[in-house]
Amino acid sequence: MTWPRIGKPEQVRAAANLRDYARACREFSWDEARRELSGLPSGNSLNIACVAVDRHAAGPRCGRTAIRWIDRHDRAHDFSYSELREWTNRFANLLQELGVRRGDRVFTLLGRVPDLYVAALGTMKAGCVVSPLFSAFGPEPIRERLRLGEGSVLVTTPALYRRKVRGIRDFLPSLSHVLLVGGDAEPRTTALGPALAAADPEFDAVPTKPEDAALLHFTSGTTGTPKGALHVHQAVLAHHVTARYALDLRPDDMFWCTADPGWVTGMSYGVIAPLTHGATLISDEGEFDALRWYRVLSAQHVTVWYTAPTALRMLMRDARKPGDFDLAALRFVASVGEPLNPEVVVWGQEALGLPVHDNWWQTETGAIMIANLAAAEIRPGSMGRPLPGVKAGLLERGPDGRALVTDGRVREITAPGVEGELALRPGWPSMFRAYWHDSERYARAFADGWYLTGDVARRDEDGHFWFVGRADDVIKSAGHLVGPFEVENALLAHPAVAEAGVIGKPDPVAGELVKAFVTLRPGYEPTETLRWELLAFGRHALGAVAPKELVFDQWLPHTRSGKVMRRLLKARELGLPEGDVSTLEVPG
Ligand code: ATP
Ligand code: MG
Repeated sequence: MTWPRIGKPEQVRAAANLRDYARACREFSWDEARRELSGLPSGNSLNIACVAVDRHAAGPRCGRTAIRWIDRHDRAHDFSYSELREWTNRFANLLQELGVRRGDRVFTLLGRVPDLYVAALGTMKAGCVVSPLFSAFGPEPIRERLRLGEGSVLVTTPALYRRKVRGIRDFLPSLSHVLLVGGDAEPRTTALGPALAAADPEFDAVPTKPEDAALLHFTSGTTGTPKGALHVHQAVLAHHVTARYALDLRPDDMFWCTADPGWVTGMSYGVIAPLTHGATLISDEGEFDALRWYRVLSAQHVTVWYTAPTALRMLMRDARKPGDFDLAALRFVASVGEPLNPEVVVWGQEALGLPVHDNWWQTETGAIMIANLAAAEIRPGSMGRPLPGVKAGLLERGPDGRALVTDGRVREITAPGVEGELALRPGWPSMFRAYWHDSERYARAFADGWYLTGDVARRDEDGHFWFVGRADDVIKSAGHLVGPFEVENALLAHPAVAEAGVIGKPDPVAGELVKAFVTLRPGYEPTETLRWELLAFGRHALGAVAPKELVFDQWLPHTRSGKVMRRLLKARELGLPEGDVSTLEVPG
C-alpha cells in the first residue's frame, strides 16, 4: 500500500536548520565546515576532542551542561564543558604518564557512565585511538576485538574485569594497562579515580592531523563477523554538519541519542556531535523500559531524540501512551539502524504529534548519509535524500547481488524505481579509512570511484531513496527475487504484528521458500486461526513472494544494536552452526 505523505507546517519549515535543500546541495563545501570548526590550538591540527570540548570550554558557554547523566536510580548529574575539559585533560595526561603512545588503541568496556565519555574524549586528546566495546559482550568477543585491534589500554570496571577480562588477560600480550572505574584495584590494574585525581588538569592536546586515526568501531555483526572500521579526526566535520542538517541540532538543545557509545551511532551522535554543537547530551545509564524512556523524555525536556526502529516498535506495543506524559519540549524525532516501517512514522505523527525521520548510514560511513529532513515532507517508508556534500548512486547488480564490475567499470542506474546497489562517491570526511588489518576487504569495498555499501535501494523520480535490503540477503523463490524487509514490512501492517523476521529456507521445488517469524502485540494469542489469517494477509499484499510458512516467536534474535539477526534465524531453522554470535542480544 502507499502511505500518504506527511507535510510539514510552514512554521516548522521556516525554523529548520536546512530550509533550502537544493541550494544547500549546490553550494555545499566541506571546507566551509572546516573553517567553522577551526580556531584550534595550532595551525593545521584537528582533534575531535578539542572541537567537541575545548572550543566551548574556552568561550562564553563554558558553564553550559555538556553531559547530563542519569544514573540507574534516576538521579541526574551535570557536567559542564569546563569540567569535561578538565577531566579529559587529566585522562590524556594519565595516558602519557603511562607511556601510551600516539596512535595506540585505548579500549573502553563500560556501561553508560561519565568515565566512558571522559576516557573516549581524553584518548583522542592524547592522539590515541579509542575503540569502545559494548559492556554486555562476553569474554570471547572482548578478547577477539582487543586482539584484533591490539589494544594497549582497557578502561573497565572491577566487576566487568573479574567476570570477563581477568581470564583472558594472558592471551592479550599487547594489553599493557587496565584502568578500573570505581571500587578497588585488582592485581595488574590501576584504579582510575585516584590516578585521575592526581593527574594534571592542564594538557595541550596533541596536534593531530585531519587524517590521523581517532576511532576504531566494530560493525554490528548482522551479516557475519564484525569488522573494525577505522575513522580519522576530520570525521568530526561530518558529525557536526550532518547533525545540524539531519537531526536539526542546535546549541540550546537537550539531545538524547539512545544508542550505546559501543556502537558508531552512540559515538558519532551520542558523544561527538551534540558536543561540537555546544548542546547538552543526555546519557541514561538504564536499559530500555517504556516507562523509563517516557520519563527521561519528559523530565529532561528532551528536544531532539535519535533512536532506533526496534525501540519505537516496542513503545508502540506498550500499554503506556506518549499522551500520558508531558513531551511538550520534543521538537524532532529521528531513527536509524534498520528499516523504519511506515506504521512507525505515522504512529509518531499521531501519538507524539511529530513524524519519525528515518535516516541511513553505516559504521563505515561514520555519519548520516541519507536522511529525511526537518523542512521536507516525509514519504513514509523512504530513507530520504542524500545530505548536502554526499553523492549517492545506484549501481547495476550482477548474479551475486552485488554491483557488477566489468573491467573495473560499473554502470550507474539513473531511471527511477530501479533497484541497484547503493554506492557513495568517496570524499566525505567520515568515510572509514581501513578495515583494521584487512586491506583486501577494504579494497573490495570500492570500484570505479564508488564505495559499495552492500545495501540495495531504489530511488523515486524526486530523488528519495527507498531501502530494499542487503545485497547478500535476497531470497530467490520460484524465480522471484524478494528482500526479507519487503515481506517483513507487509506483515507489520497487520495490527497483530509487533515485529517480524523473514528468511529464505531451501526448498527442492521453489529453490527457496519464504518463511516468517512473527512476534505478536500484547492482546493477541498465537492461534492457528491467526496464523492462517496472517498468511492470507501476506498473500494479499505480496502475491507470489508472500511467506509460505509462518511461525510465532516472541523472542526474535536481535543484535545488541537492535537489528533482527536473520542469519541466526536461518542457521537455527537449518540446524547449522550459529556463526559469530558475539553481538547477539540476550534477553533478560
Ligand atoms: P555487519 O556489517 O557487521 O553485518 P551491520 O551492517 O548491521 O553489521 P552497522 O554498520 O551497524 O552494521 O549497520 C549498517 C547497516 O544497517 C546498513 O548497511 C543497513 O543495512 C542498515 N541500516 C542502517 N540504517 C538503515 C535505515 N534507515 N533503513 C534500512 N536499513 C538501515
Ligand atoms: Mg554492514
